[in-house]
Amino acid sequence: MVQSEAERHTFYAGKPQPASKSSNYFETVNPSNGEPLGKIYTSSSDSINSAVESARGAFPSWSATPPIERARILQRAVSLLRQRNDELAQIETLDTGKPFSETSTVDIVTGADVLEYFANLVASGGLNGESFRLRPSAMVYTSKEPLGVCAGIGAWNYPIQIALWKSAPCLAAGNCMVYKPSEFTPLHAQYLAEIYREAGLPDGVFNVIYGAGEVGAHLTAHPAIAKVSFTGQVATGKKVAGSAAGGMKYVTMELGGKSPLVILPGAAVDQAVDVAMMANFFSSGQVCTNGTRVFVPRAMKKDFERALLQKIPFVRAGDLSDMGTNFGPLNSKVHHQKVIEYIRRGIEEDKATLLCGGLDQPANLPTNLRQGYWVQPTVFTDCRDDMTIVKEEIFGPVMAILTYDVVDEAIQRANATELGLAAGVVGRDIDQCHLVISRLEAGITWVNTWGESPAEMAVGGWKQSGLGVENGRRGLEAWVRNKSTIIEMGGSAATVFSKL
Ligand code: NDP
Repeated sequence: MVQSEAERHTFYAGKPQPASKSSNYFETVNPSNGEPLGKIYTSSSDSINSAVESARGAFPSWSATPPIERARILQRAVSLLRQRNDELAQIETLDTGKPFSETSTVDIVTGADVLEYFANLVASGGLNGESFRLRPSAMVYTSKEPLGVCAGIGAWNYPIQIALWKSAPCLAAGNCMVYKPSEFTPLHAQYLAEIYREAGLPDGVFNVIYGAGEVGAHLTAHPAIAKVSFTGQVATGKKVAGSAAGGMKYVTMELGGKSPLVILPGAAVDQAVDVAMMANFFSSGQVCTNGTRVFVPRAMKKDFERALLQKIPFVRAGDLSDMGTNFGPLNSKVHHQKVIEYIRRGIEEDKATLLCGGLDQPANLPTNLRQGYWVQPTVFTDCRDDMTIVKEEIFGPVMAILTYDVVDEAIQRANATELGLAAGVVGRDIDQCHLVISRLEAGITWVNTWGESPAEMAVGGWKQSGLGVENGRRGLEAWVRNKSTIIEMGGSAATVFSKL
């Protein structure tokens, strides 16, 4: 496992830029043991402006590069990402606290897939417009034009994946990007910038700035930014979208959720439990689409809980480099405190029944990891819709079991939230599954599975969970603007003033 002491500096004009002696810095920390990993220099206003200028300088030439040539460069980056998968996965494991078994099979893989998808899409005509004859003497054509310099602002739960999901369509469409990772997980950004450079991306096309919210706010408000693609909490997203609206900028908002999973009567209990565990404990519950409100038919409750308790030991905390470990710590001290506080509220204020887990660290955790930010997979049952742990996004491994009597009631209760990111159904009657899914108010839905998000599939939240989509063909449309042109070939509206 890599244990490198790292330094990170604002990256623009194709390289990291040295910080001045007075520059502020912060430390990024290994969440599994609480030890510092590196020093990150906060980008000053001047260096943020320089990163934007660098992107502006690169835009005319990059946007004029034929899509197939841009695609070739991005495909080389895909190869480098795949060659260095394990090295990058180790960095992500150190920075995020996710087990290597997860980062080496999901984080870089799904990021590289999306880059490959958008490179292929623009190389095969994905940016083509349309043309049609308006009348015998006139035709119309449209073109998809890049927006300019775009901002990418990422959350800490899928650092390199988020960076790739934003930069891939952005760059493939001919835009340039200034990207700000979360201050909690910044290490990946320079590796990605270096991979892009090695792949042949011209200097200035992809730039990185570092720091907390105020750095993101400065970037969002910069007048040269044409679009902000943001992933994070609903409350932050509202501030960012508000600031962007002031400059009439395009936005994509990928925000939080409190997603329902409806187990239908007659569902196979084992399958229902497998899906519920995937929807709650993968990545220690730090997934935006987590299905934390699990609606179970009252008649199935006992069997569901029994099967769940039998499978809980399959959630294995421990040394993150061990391929047998599938459950890591939470990402930061502050997030750990937040999740523990929700568990405490669940027990003391909501008075839900604690089926398993709770406030202690996992019992079998090695001594050298006890300083890390660990919690147990936790399940509350006998939950009510008005409980805090049922209403608010916890973003940790905390499942709430809610019982229901008729499916109609479960659907109404599942929809009774301002959020609408994801939803899922488990059942054997496939017609009923489709009917229920069609009534659930969410942008990403699954039947008899949970969590897969392939490059080809557009994803985005409904209601307060977001605006717009990432990935799929529609994901590319979010990075271009339309231009329509009429060509007149004889006699036209322009002759109105040519005769008396
Ligand atoms: P935050 O909203 O706290 O932060 C997201 C990013 O925004 C960070 O880089 C943060 O900086 C930055 N930021 C903070 N304030 C501002 C501001 N005023 N202007 C511009 N940028 C700002 O989210 P988290 O990092 O805590 O991420 C967890 C959240 O992300 C959860 O709600 C989760 O559901 C959601 N999420 C949504 C996904 C989706 O696809 N819908 C996917 C993944 C996560 P810094 O952190 O450095 O202070």
